[in-house]
Amino acid sequence: MNIKLVAILLLGLCVFSCGMLAACTGRNQTLPHQLVLQKPATLNHSGQIIWQMDSPKTVYLTFDDGPDPVNTPIILDILKKYNVKVTFFVLGHKAQKNPALIKRIKYDGHILGNHTFTHIDGTVVDLKKIRAEINSTHQLLQTICGVKVTLFRPPFGFFNWRVFAAAKSRGYQIALWTFDLSDWSVHSSDQYVKTVAENLADGAIILMHDGGPKREALIEALPKIIELIKKRGYKFSNCF
Ligand SMILES: [Zn+2]
Repeated sequence: MNIKLVAILLLGLCVFSCGMLAACTGRNQTLPHQLVLQKPATLNHSGQIIWQMDSPKTVYLTFDDGPDPVNTPIILDILKKYNVKVTFFVLGHKAQKNPALIKRIKYDGHILGNHTFTHIDGTVVDLKKIRAEINSTHQLLQTICGVKVTLFRPPFGFFNWRVFAAAKSRGYQIALWTFDLSDWSVHSSDQYVKTVAENLADGAIILMHDGGPKREALIEALPKIIELIKKRGYKFSNCF
């Protein structure tokens, strides 16, 4: 076993341990989305959990908690106008109610990710339950649009060994995020643009939400965010 491989294994073990610790301590947090690590680790090809991609001058936009019958079509229109491809981490129960939106997300060239069926905190349920949440969403998306989804994002960013095992047993890569816009608590388009301007980095995965209430500010900010990212010389990708 060479030194590089040992280093990768140790890094992976460290990150996984930190994640489990954060997941445990994070249970008492009231925030709907909490970063697992304060400082994102760059870990993709060598590990199982992605916080940031190893991709120069590339940004990954991600939208969680949809599809939403009001917000998602508007966001899809904006993305189409700017020819930006992103990833939607969808909830099974919302996909069930909005299958046409799931088909449109796929048709428009975006990637679908699994975000569980009911937005459950997988760290407080048993393995059978978290498996059922992942599997039912997986099968539903396959039924709706024939896509075998390979990306999983645990709700709240919380995970422990059960969540990890359930996702991996289905062949999922776990994708978290580098920074988020706090659009679940802050509703200011100027603040969203400022957050992106201050945190933009190579391979950054940006978390936003198409699902949930009060998304007007995000919809207003999205064109400005896309223009800012392009102006800084970054390209967009949804290839994890
Ligand atoms: Zn979520």
